[in-house]
Amino acid sequence: MSALEKLKADLAGIAIEDNPQIVKQKSRDFFWYSPVLKQQLDHVTGDLVVTPRSEAEVIKVLKACYALDVPVTVRGAGTGNYGQAMPLSGGVILNLAEMNKVKSIRPGVVVVEPGAIISKIDDETRAHSGQELRLHPSTYRTATIGGFIAGGSGGVGSINWGGLRDLGNVLRLRVITMEAEPKVLEMTGHDLHKVMHAYGTNGVISEVEMPLTASYDWVDVVVGFDAFMDGVRFADALGNQDGLLVKEIAPIAAPVPHDYFLRHQKYIRRDQSVVVVMVASFAMDAFAAFTAADRRASILYRSDLADEATRKSLPPAYELAWNHTTLRGLRVDPSITYLQVLYPFPDHVEKVRRMCDLFGDEVPGHLEFVRFDGKITCFGLPIVRYTSEERLNEIIRLHEDGGCPIFNPHRYTLEEGGMKQTDEVQLAFKRQADPKGLLNPGKMIAWEDPSYDFRSGKVFLFPGLARA
Ligand code: FAD
Repeated sequence: MSALEKLKADLAGIAIEDNPQIVKQKSRDFFWYSPVLKQQLDHVTGDLVVTPRSEAEVIKVLKACYALDVPVTVRGAGTGNYGQAMPLSGGVILNLAEMNKVKSIRPGVVVVEPGAIISKIDDETRAHSGQELRLHPSTYRTATIGGFIAGGSGGVGSINWGGLRDLGNVLRLRVITMEAEPKVLEMTGHDLHKVMHAYGTNGVISEVEMPLTASYDWVDVVVGFDAFMDGVRFADALGNQDGLLVKEIAPIAAPVPHDYFLRHQKYIRRDQSVVVVMVASFAMDAFAAFTAADRRASILYRSDLADEATRKSLPPAYELAWNHTTLRGLRVDPSITYLQVLYPFPDHVEKVRRMCDLFGDEVPGHLEFVRFDGKITCFGLPIVRYTSEERLNEIIRLHEDGGCPIFNPHRYTLEEGGMKQTDEVQLAFKRQADPKGLLNPGKMIAWEDPSYDFRSGKVFLFPGLARA
């Protein structure tokens, strides 16, 4: 009997799918976002999809896979766009979609299962006590909370709260190890960084405790500018307003808004750049006053003044921002791609200007203003009009030479993606939690290649653990 046949027999009673078409579908994430990853990963598929309904079933699956040396790649909703969830060595896709309950809500805190869809969590916490999660990816309506923590970094709300990397933005995780007798670890504080943004390479998150904040009605606003840099300065000033509550500030350069935001197109001239904003409804008068004081700004759309039919016909503002900007672009022009850039404080605006001057319409600007190390600065997710991998690498180098670190979304390993630094502590934890290296193999270079030197001077979003 093959290992997979034996595994199926061992897991009797747990939902298993082996239809190759469905397995292939459930093996894929949004890796195709990148023309580079599309070539590398298109053929990748797992062998079986296993869908546990409880932590006890997760433990049973991991124990059986460990005994049979079968690799396991965890899957939330498969919206990761660096191939995070692609099972490079085949094996089991551990689909957590059925572990989706909100377990408890109290002031400031929610406890959930890992497969809960992020917007569904907010639906429950709002109805329960007028609370919502501090931050969410733009895949709010599709992504799971476990996938966000293991594969994401930040998003809508990061202007107020920073990113997942910041202490306090995740409170506690329960993590199951991949051993002969899997252990259940309760992690808090700095230890959380061992499994956060680790692509499920060192444990399966089975429960998540997240902080909540007060929930408000958020008004979607699109503000227009004749020049992108005027929008950037407006966004920077808005982010630095201490009393004006916003949840999202995204400047996007012409012609991207007109060409790619098809359902908003009627509001936007082709030569107009925009800043997409989410404002608390009670702050709209203050926001209107702030905008009126900038003679270069004009409000093109406000959801609070639109009728219901119009509101329903448009995507929410957060689905124009973060990686949704790129997604909308790809639907219109599949040849484009994008980059992830940090413009470090305090001369972030000047750095944006220099990059825009350098690349022009080859790399139209898209920024996300965030709180980063206590300062308001911006990330970039600029569109790249892709011509070749060589030119893409040159664009990356020119950014880095200009003092703008790149988190490369065209690489599927943790280290090359540039967000997660591996080090001795991370490796020691991997040895303990996944001694056979069966969890999402191929994603951590430091594990696969003992000669890998992780002491580079590169900037990582989730820094190494050795100093923590
Ligand atoms: P998956 O893609 O299923 O998994 C992501 C990674 O986590 C994989 O490596 C997987 O193996 C691992 N994993 C999943 N669940 C667990 C678990 N319970 N335990 C251990 N490991 C696990 N990201 C952002 O940070 N911010 C954004 O604003 C954002 N916007 C996006 C917009 C678009 C259009 C797209 C396509 C992607 C975007 N992303 C963003 C990336 C991605 O959507 C987010 O990271 C998302 O939260 C992933 O959730 P998921 O459930 O789809 O995870």
